[in-house]
Amino acid sequence: MELLDGKLIANILKDEIAQEVTKLVANGARKPHLVAILVGENGASETYVNAKVKACERVGFDSSIVRLDADASEEVLLKEVQKINKNPEIDGLIVQLPLPKHISETKVTETIAPEKDVDGFHPISLGRMVLNLPTYLPATPAGIVELLDRYDVETSGKHCVVVGRSHIVGSPMSILMARNTKVGNCTVTLTHSRTKKLEEITRSADILIVALGKPEFVKAHMVKQDAVVVDVGITRVKSDKTKSGWKLKGDVAFDEVAPKCSFITPVPGGVGPMTISSLLKNTLLSAKNKIPS
Ligand code: NDP
Repeated sequence: MELLDGKLIANILKDEIAQEVTKLVANGARKPHLVAILVGENGASETYVNAKVKACERVGFDSSIVRLDADASEEVLLKEVQKINKNPEIDGLIVQLPLPKHISETKVTETIAPEKDVDGFHPISLGRMVLNLPTYLPATPAGIVELLDRYDVETSGKHCVVVGRSHIVGSPMSILMARNTKVGNCTVTLTHSRTKKLEEITRSADILIVALGKPEFVKAHMVKQDAVVVDVGITRVKSDKTKSGWKLKGDVAFDEVAPKCSFITPVPGGVGPMTISSLLKNTLLSAKNKIPS
């Protein structure tokens, strides 16, 4: 079993991005600038945004956080998005999800200018992805593709099973794995909560990508011998062994599944850091005006 070490690869990617930033700045350009909007107070969202800000510092980007109260109206948030859309000094904008119930995530996503949509959630970005045109790929699926690529995992002709069909992870992941690209050319099965005989399907996967948000859902008997397993899930569970009082769990029961795998991602230190490095990559592309809107 080999660990797909997302932390290690993300650090290599960050070094590569930092070198490009140094070159840009040496040529007289300003630093790439990423803005995150955070609505309300949510411990997990706060942690994710802080990790993104820290990553920006590490690669030499500017970053800012716009904080809005939990009861801020949808209109106030949309105005903030529009203001950032028009600001030529800002290259990338992310609105940290989830949003309070009274705000439509779809409306907010659609309001972000596609050329600043570094999370890759805008319908235009997703449409271009489906057509295999240059675009910002959604950060988590793109990070997984990059991780498989860096470890030279063979995907062509393999059966890839994706568990979870969210717009930000499962659905785009299934599309990327089926594309005619180096990491791709899989025969893909996309599963969800209505899927029948899920265990039979996961057992037939050469590559199993799990994104449902249920800690340790995938057990050893659901995994084929020598499968490649990618665990996207991150759930905070209570723990009396940590200072914070919680720890992160993936969707895969790592200890029992890992011995059966040819490759597996850990949680933490697998997909999470890759998601952040994809976000940085997209922001760099935006700063270099590499993506058509
Ligand atoms: P969503 O809650 O949006 O989607 C969950 C999906 O899982 C749904 O499609 C749902 O099916 C499916 N599902 C739920 N229960 C079952 C079941 N018993 N069997 C099969 N499918 C099921 O989650 P996200 O995609 O946003 O996130 C998934 C996990 O990944 C979460 O833990 C999240 O925190 C984590 N995540 C991690 C990231 C990272 O960087 N590492 C980035 C983004 C998310 P249905 O559609 O039928 O309801």
